Amino acid sequence: MKRKYSWLLVISFISFVLLMGCANDASSDKVENEKEVSNQAEASPSTSDSNEETEEKVEEVENSGDMKVTLLGTGSPVLSMDRLGNSTLVEVGEEKLLFDVGRGAALRLDQIDISPGMIDKLFITHLHHDHTVGFADLLITAAVPDPRGNREGDLQVWGPKGTENMVNSTIKAFEVDIKIRKKVEGASGLGATVQEIEEGVVYENNGVEVIAFNVDHGPMKPSLGYRINYKGRSVVISGDTTYSENLIKHAKGTDLLVQEVVVVKGPEEEYKSEAHKNIEAYHTTPEQAGELFKEIDPKLAVFTHIATFLPEHEATIVNRTKAIYDGEVILGEDLTSIEVGEEVTISE
Ligand SMILES: [Zn+2]
Repeated sequence: MKRKYSWLLVISFISFVLLMGCANDASSDKVENEKEVSNQAEASPSTSDSNEETEEKVEEVENSGDMKVTLLGTGSPVLSMDRLGNSTLVEVGEEKLLFDVGRGAALRLDQIDISPGMIDKLFITHLHHDHTVGFADLLITAAVPDPRGNREGDLQVWGPKGTENMVNSTIKAFEVDIKIRKKVEGASGLGATVQEIEEGVVYENNGVEVIAFNVDHGPMKPSLGYRINYKGRSVVISGDTTYSENLIKHAKGTDLLVQEVVVVKGPEEEYKSEAHKNIEAYHTTPEQAGELFKEIDPKLAVFTHIATFLPEHEATIVNRTKAIYDGEVILGEDLTSIEVGEEVTISE
């Protein structure tokens, strides 16, 4: 019996030693695993590191001086479902600057997920209706409750002499509606503050500078173009004009030139009416645009205000310009979007 117990003791001892061995292995495995986790933790950045990186990236984008230009409407007074009235949105950092507000501008803003109430700065080039007829829509639709945003204060408007009358008369024309919306719905953003401007710096905020300059739009005086500067980059909006030395002076070397164009006839064709001849006289033909671009030398020129009186003329515009000018030039479409950064890139 004693011998039997001795064997049992020996077996128990061996089992104990083996179990301890396993336990040690397991615990050393655990230590190894913990080391690995800790090494992994060291290798990958902590949450605060990753936040810092994201902040750096955001800062990088903000400091890059990038601007985004969206052609909301590339049309003219000529009725078109494809080319709505003239309007261009320039987004710079937090700033959303709207230049002109032609037919359907509020609809095009909605298409790029911007409510009219998210716009509080409007710059008018001149008082032809194809640049202003969307004003009442931009002003009043901003008061319709919209989860994306409603304007709190006044719509700020800059424009040439006569703008105050256009704005105040529109508000007067809609006074019944505006009064009811304010009283019944507690609507805000239905007022407008107007600054009638002349050539010079008209707006400075968050590093953005807007310069107005005179252009030559025949009998429509005054008519303005705008240059938007931001951290060494620039965008120029020609406004409505024929060939203009002052446009060349203010647009020289810009990154992006948004240029008006009108075609009333082909180069070899006769004028169909006196009206066509007069219209051409205070707008830019494709050939005049080529001459302008040669002097201005923009990184990219994009046509807007594409007024053609025969449908077949539209496809000829860029080629007519390129016969004179060999730089980058494109025909804008409604909602063409252009990033102005290190490069000037087009995204449809
Ligand atoms: Zn005009």
